[in-house]
Amino acid sequence: MTDNCGRVIDYLRISVTDLCNLRCDYCMPAEGIAKRKHSDIMRVEEILDVAEAAVGLGIRKIRITGGEPLLRRGLLDIISGIAELGIDDLALTTNGILLSELAAPLKSAGLNRINISLDTLNPDMFKNITRGGELQNVLDGIAAAKSTGLTPIKLNCVLMRGVNDNEIEAFADLSERLDVDLRFIELMPIGQAKSLWRERYLSNDAVVQRLGLKNGIQRGVAMQYGRIGLIDPVSRAFCGSCNRIRLTADGCIKPCLHSEGEISIRNLRDEELTYALKLAIQAKPVSHRGLTNEAPSDSARSMDRIGG
Ligand code: SAM
Ligand code: SF4
Repeated sequence: MTDNCGRVIDYLRISVTDLCNLRCDYCMPAEGIAKRKHSDIMRVEEILDVAEAAVGLGIRKIRITGGEPLLRRGLLDIISGIAELGIDDLALTTNGILLSELAAPLKSAGLNRINISLDTLNPDMFKNITRGGELQNVLDGIAAAKSTGLTPIKLNCVLMRGVNDNEIEAFADLSERLDVDLRFIELMPIGQAKSLWRERYLSNDAVVQRLGLKNGIQRGVAMQYGRIGLIDPVSRAFCGSCNRIRLTADGCIKPCLHSEGEISIRNLRDEELTYALKLAIQAKPVSHRGLTNEAPSDSARSMDRIGG
């Protein structure tokens, strides 16, 4: 389906839970978030209804996210139900902590590929950023995803000044050594990150310079240099090529990550559901306002309640 600006919308990101087993300091408050009532979260069947209606409108790619999606009860049913819809690409973004256990079942359920978020290769820094996580669990998860064939694997690293900008080369080496793709993502001033942003934001130009990257090719929202991709939502906003809508765990469609607007599709069925999805696509703004300290994201939700 095409939106009002002529952009083809063929990508749906589905957050299946707000819960997380880490507390990354730029994403979640230290105390975590208040647990919602079970009934506030979309049931497996409801998520599958939305996915089916979205595919009917031309969605060809679906990504499962969270919170931490591997914590979601019924996740394998969600994956297998979506896989049956026969789309081009079914992917999932995870922090990787539980992946060594779940890689094989996810693959069997029909998941095509996986993105693993990893912001540091230093175990102590990993503990600091995630407020207590064990780096080794993620490394084991990457190994399991590789051996199961959840490929191509992409490592997602949020670049942060004074936190991990001394690891740019180490990440590039790791990507070569493990034969996995790597993406550096600029820190966005949204939710928890608003208060840290001025101090930590570093443009991905730092990666280009430090690794001597040349001849980048625009692929979707990423600038691709071989197996290294740069996602520059702050320094090079890509609203003009935005192809996505998002479903939150409590049943709202977000037409734009950084805008306030949401459309609740909870309890809608059949034609009503399709109509609401069409409205959400038509409601996509031309662009969101600039992401800076003075003009941060307008999203009322933080990243853990959207899914990236
Ligand atoms: N828990 C899963 C994970 O960490 O991969 C999925 C949800 S998490 C919200 C999705 C992605 O959003 C992660 O790669 C995370 O690093 C990224 N993220 C969170 N807050 C961000 C911010 N302020 N700017 C850029 N990326 C952010
Ligand atoms: Fe959890 Fe992912 Fe947010 Fe980290 S980035 S706190 S793993 S939702």
